[in-house]
Amino acid sequence: MSLSESVLNRLRHQSAHEPEFLQAVQEVLESVEKVLVKRPDLVEAGILDRIVEPEKVLMFRVTWVDDHGKVQVNRGYRVQFNSAIGPYKGGLRFHPSVNLGIIKFLGFEQIFKNSLTGLAMGGGKGGSDFDPKGKSEGEVMRFCQAFMSQLWRHIGPETDVPAGDIGVGGREIGYMYGTYRQITNAFWGALTGKGLTYGGSLGRTEATGYGLCYFTEEMLETRGEMVRGKTVVISGSGNVAIYATEKVHQLGGVVVALSDSNGYIYDPDGIDLQVVKQLKEVERRRIKDYLNYRPRAKYEEGCSGIWNIKCDIALPCATQNELDGQAAQTLVNNKVLAVAEGANMPCTPEAVEIFQKNKVLFGPAKAANAGGVATSGLEMAQNSMKLSWTFEEVDAKLKEIMRNIHKKAREAAKEYADPDDLVAGANIAGFLKVAEAMKAQGITF
Ligand code: NDP
Repeated sequence: MSLSESVLNRLRHQSAHEPEFLQAVQEVLESVEKVLVKRPDLVEAGILDRIVEPEKVLMFRVTWVDDHGKVQVNRGYRVQFNSAIGPYKGGLRFHPSVNLGIIKFLGFEQIFKNSLTGLAMGGGKGGSDFDPKGKSEGEVMRFCQAFMSQLWRHIGPETDVPAGDIGVGGREIGYMYGTYRQITNAFWGALTGKGLTYGGSLGRTEATGYGLCYFTEEMLETRGEMVRGKTVVISGSGNVAIYATEKVHQLGGVVVALSDSNGYIYDPDGIDLQVVKQLKEVERRRIKDYLNYRPRAKYEEGCSGIWNIKCDIALPCATQNELDGQAAQTLVNNKVLAVAEGANMPCTPEAVEIFQKNKVLFGPAKAANAGGVATSGLEMAQNSMKLSWTFEEVDAKLKEIMRNIHKKAREAAKEYADPDDLVAGANIAGFLKVAEAMKAQGITF
């Protein structure tokens, strides 16, 4: 039995009820198998056994009072997975589906993603099973305050720097930062994704979606193609999906479909992004309401049907395992050219296999959506220097970082696998930097 198999077997036993975590670990371990053959020193340092185990797992009660005066209890999490190359860094997710296994999968992915950015950031992730949907402004604020009143003692600008994720945008970060500042009596960058009036970075809101498109352009270039003139389908209609749509349009492509957890819209004339921004960012309504503004568009209930729409480029930007083998086969039959993951692990292992077998350009999440955390890293740098860069400066740095990530992943893929296999390339390149850092620092945890 190989070393990766024995590590995986142990985890299957210990974490049987954490399927997403096991899925994420399996993919990375399979990729790094070839590296370990050439690097017995890493095996000797016990890197594989250590890297799959979080340094710390925090789980805490979050108690708050709803608008009817009723006491509500949610569960809060922060998984501080790996700090070998920098302070823990990764978002907070507020969604009813959140549990420890989901946070561990996201935290594990974050280790390699952050490593790929070239910035000094370790991996972490957190969140709660709180559902912001349908809650009043006051309820969201009280929940965020209660959440941070527990989390604050575990984070800090040189320790752990959380950010947003599903269900956590500028509004929630603002409420949490206010509480953090009040308790610590200090104004320092312990959260990213902050508003522009209190330490946020220009370009952070757009970064994941824009970065995803820069990465897609890099992949397309290897086949002499570009986004210009292409038809694009994007799932989700949150932060990542909205700004991916904006950048696709700026690059000359046309996005024809978006979704939310209820259904999807198809607008053959191209999505009117101002309408979507108004609906989602301002009024917090459902994607179905798009039809009130664009009667020629169509709405279908259910999320998975979105992948039946013929497109050149597919960008899944909603959630994990939203694109399965059947959807992948449909996209392939419809001659999709490139798929890049805006969400974390949105494609099932079967889907990834189908794309790779059919030579579809495939950008894995830990490389393709790293623009968000990279720009969070830039926000941390600006906070430390007490300076603000212009939007153009941040955007230029983001573009350069995405280009480098693509290059690193491709080079590692070339050395250890097939140059087009960016899944293996991203895993290997991300892993090697962290593994070297862990080895150099001795047996620390
Ligand atoms: P948002 O909360 O802004 O948007 C999430 C979108 O996905 C919404 O349209 C939501 O629909 C939909 N969605 C969420 N859960 C489900 C589900 N179970 N089934 C179907 N649709 C669902 O989140 P983000 O845009 O920030 O995040 C989207 C993805 O991108 C996540 O996987 C996240 O981890 C990843 N990501 C985000 C980064 C960031 O900077 N924000 C950085 C890197 C990755 P509805 O409103 O109906 O729930």
